[in-house]
Amino acid sequence: MRVLNFSAGPSQLPEYVLEKIKDQMMDYEKCGQSVMEMSHRSQEFKGIIEKTEKRLRKLMNIPDNYKVLFLQGGGSLQFTMIPVNLFGENKKAAVVNTGAWSKKAAAELKRLEWIYGHETCVIAASSEEDNFSYIPKDFDIPEGIDYLYICENNTIYGTKYKKLPDTKGVKLVADLSSCILSEPVNVSDYALIFAGAQKNMGIAGLTVVIIREDLIKKDDRIPAMLSYYVHADKESMYNTPPTFSIYVMGLVLEWIEKEFGTLEKLGEINRKKADLLYDYLDNSKVFKGTAAKEDRSLMNVPFVTGDKNLDAEFIDFAKKKGFVNIKGHRSVGGMRASIYNAMPYEAVEKLVECMKEFEKGVL
Ligand code: PMP
Repeated sequence: MRVLNFSAGPSQLPEYVLEKIKDQMMDYEKCGQSVMEMSHRSQEFKGIIEKTEKRLRKLMNIPDNYKVLFLQGGGSLQFTMIPVNLFGENKKAAVVNTGAWSKKAAAELKRLEWIYGHETCVIAASSEEDNFSYIPKDFDIPEGIDYLYICENNTIYGTKYKKLPDTKGVKLVADLSSCILSEPVNVSDYALIFAGAQKNMGIAGLTVVIIREDLIKKDDRIPAMLSYYVHADKESMYNTPPTFSIYVMGLVLEWIEKEFGTLEKLGEINRKKADLLYDYLDNSKVFKGTAAKEDRSLMNVPFVTGDKNLDAEFIDFAKKKGFVNIKGHRSVGGMRASIYNAMPYEAVEKLVECMKEFEKGVL
């Protein structure tokens, strides 16, 4: 029996995708081999990567002057690739500190000080004093920076930008690892978007970068594997790309097209799912959400009882009923339900029922 997996990532995949992988495992479209075995230079794989990019472009409405790159190294490698490629005359970026992942991005930026010989990272605003429970707003954009960096959806703290900061013309770079494809975005608002595939686009091993073409500059000092120019020039085939992860992403996009058609529709359903859980949390006498109401994520919903022992009891109670990976991150404690695209509305209904039943037993 399959469990309901509320993991923050890698996370639950649509059954459509798993079934299709199973069907094509021994023989992909009559070529007598699985995708795992085929050369990345083969016609079959070329077809897979091209189809995947086309589907992503269509769903996200990516303008022609943006390049899509299929890379490795996780979201975490982008913390280094972004500055080494995007630094301009200032060799400095500003970060909005909204949690563990923006903190890590800032730490990697700071690490570059030994190369550039000056301060490379400034913090534009932070919500750390309130355990990252909200998104800072109306802050000043620091002077003398090459770009502003944000983590658009904070996987651990369950907060999300509902409105992008007004950067006053400064380039905006955003980590969409835990919210990509959850609702429409206007790609032109960003200089660069990146996201690991393992939450809303498939499995681990693949990171997608969407970058405005004029920002891809040839610079032979940048190590080849860190250079957007090298990867773009070779159509993400400078070295062996993560072939199976790209294939799975293609299937996830195919499922989104078939099941929802557009990100507008998918966004509506995601809002309904999240509302169901938040409405219950707002009225519960036992559980409460930890993120500020106006900044709540559609994808990651952290909540607590306020009592560590009771939290542990609930996690155990839920697990016995088939709800797994619902334990919160250690920095927030309590619980976290990650309800990515592949989590059906009915599963969130079941989770709410489970919480109601637990609540009844406590009161
Ligand atoms: N950014 C965000 C928002 C994340 O949630 C994560 C991983 N959970 C990362 C970056 C890091 O991604 P990776 O593990 O792929 O390096």
